[in-house]
Amino acid sequence: MPVTLFSASSLQDYVICKRRFQLRYVLGWTWPAPETDRPTEQEERIRLGRELHRLIHQHLLGIPVEKLSLMIQHPALERWWHAYLAFMPRLRPLRVLPEITLSTPLAGQRLMARFDAIAVADQPDVSGVRAIILDWKTYHHRPSREWLMARLQSRVYPVVFLQAGSALMTSGGPSDVELWYWFAEHPLNPERLRYSEAAYRTDVAYLENLVAEIAQRIATAASIDITEEVWPLTEDERECRYCPYRALCRRGVIASPAEYMPDDAALHDEAPYEMGWEPEGLQAAEALF
Ligand code: SF4
Repeated sequence: MPVTLFSASSLQDYVICKRRFQLRYVLGWTWPAPETDRPTEQEERIRLGRELHRLIHQHLLGIPVEKLSLMIQHPALERWWHAYLAFMPRLRPLRVLPEITLSTPLAGQRLMARFDAIAVADQPDVSGVRAIILDWKTYHHRPSREWLMARLQSRVYPVVFLQAGSALMTSGGPSDVELWYWFAEHPLNPERLRYSEAAYRTDVAYLENLVAEIAQRIATAASIDITEEVWPLTEDERECRYCPYRALCRRGVIASPAEYMPDDAALHDEAPYEMGWEPEGLQAAEALF
């Protein structure tokens, strides 16, 4: 059986709705329904989010600010860019490594994470932090700390980093790592999630069980006509309001108003950067490694 590569996004989909996971990753069905009643506005924001990620990446690679600033033509992107430049001095004297993709074996499969940036310190700072996992967010609304903590990203990223990237730290363990969600609209106040030994043990056990459960379900599905089988639909129909499969599932045809989008849907993982289909979210690992 091929090894499957899981990501925070694909696992999050499974946890929210098994049917969505099946449609998106197992069957690979694309569905054209817009996620909001303002798809053009949403697409523009996603495009700008990607632009910001590209600018930050190039900046961290050493391209001068002046050159990068000349490329900016949209006021929102300019605002975010200046917000980033105002924030970056807070990371000194850490070494900031841009856009790193790591993966680690887990429950016979692989778990991957694509980090926007990782900042590492040769010596711990006053709070004992040796590594900061950075994630750039361009959300409309700042989500709550509780919402962020509950996301699979907050569990997958530290686990993958500690298992596959801890060599980037000179020493230290889970309690020396923080995950920072940086918000372009709230640049000087990132949400800082300190990790711990206890959280690491809990998260590894949880993710192993989750990955094993999905792998088992996929293996079972492979022995039957997968298009005939319908994996369980979520019982929480609020999750359907912005789901592109809602017409297929008979959970609504009309897109929900963007202005009423609640955090947990509007700020779905994919919104600014890992939008919609994440083809690498679930693939045969040998295709990538
Ligand atoms: S519309 Fe609802 S039930 Fe159907 S895939 Fe999406 S979240 Fe799941």
